[in-house]
Amino acid sequence: ETPAAVAAAHEFVALLCRRLIEEEDRLTALDRAVGDGDLGTNLARGARTILSCGEELAAGNSLPGYFRGLSEAIRRVVGGTSGPLYSLLALGMAEGIGRNPEAPQPEDWGRGLEIGTALIQELGGAQVGDRTMVDALVPAVEALNGAAGDPEAVAAAAQAARHGAEATGTMVTGLGRSSYLGRRALGHPDPGAIAIAILCETAATYLAA
Ligand code: ADP
Ligand code: MG
Ligand code: MG
Repeated sequence: ETPAAVAAAHEFVALLCRRLIEEEDRLTALDRAVGDGDLGTNLARGARTILSCGEELAAGNSLPGYFRGLSEAIRRVVGGTSGPLYSLLALGMAEGIGRNPEAPQPEDWGRGLEIGTALIQELGGAQVGDRTMVDALVPAVEALNGAAGDPEAVAAAAQAARHGAEATGTMVTGLGRSSYLGRRALGHPDPGAIAIAILCETAATYLAA
């Protein structure tokens, strides 16, 4: 039997996955402009895997166990740079809600995003301004922390993520494949950061409903 908190988490995760699949072509086009054009495919592959194995992962699992399972599944199937980084994001969620696994509060989810972001920065070495997904994640975490407990916190985080993602289009130097382009990257936002903004916006819409 699947605990209610885990079933609810999977319902939310499945929504994020369906959204990524919808955005596959757009994300691939963005990655074609500054990278190798596989971001949409990479993320959609992970999303499809989660949609097919997620219910089984949720069944009889704890909430942290479910997110650890997602982390492993992502690491197994998602290629490119996104694979290990999204795997860490799921691991961060497992840790963040681990302190309150039966009934996680908004702060616990926020801490999960914060831990996941820190793990990504630790592995990839990116700071804000390096033209990566970190440029969307860090402002989202800061907005969540600044508005803790406020029902508008997630909407504020989504706005901050979108703002941070769009700002990558004005950054010249950076990490990842777009760093090879130099000034030619100007005007093209980082696809990985845009993907994070889309996910945060989807979360905000879901929570507002
Ligand atoms: P690849 O570049 O290997 O094809 P993907 O297309 O899956 O990888 O992912 C590209 C995205 O990964 C970039 O748009 C960027 O947001 C993110 N990225 C690249 N390098 C780093 C890094 N060192 N730290 C954080 N994110 C990174
Ligand atoms: Mg790519
Ligand atoms: Mg690639």
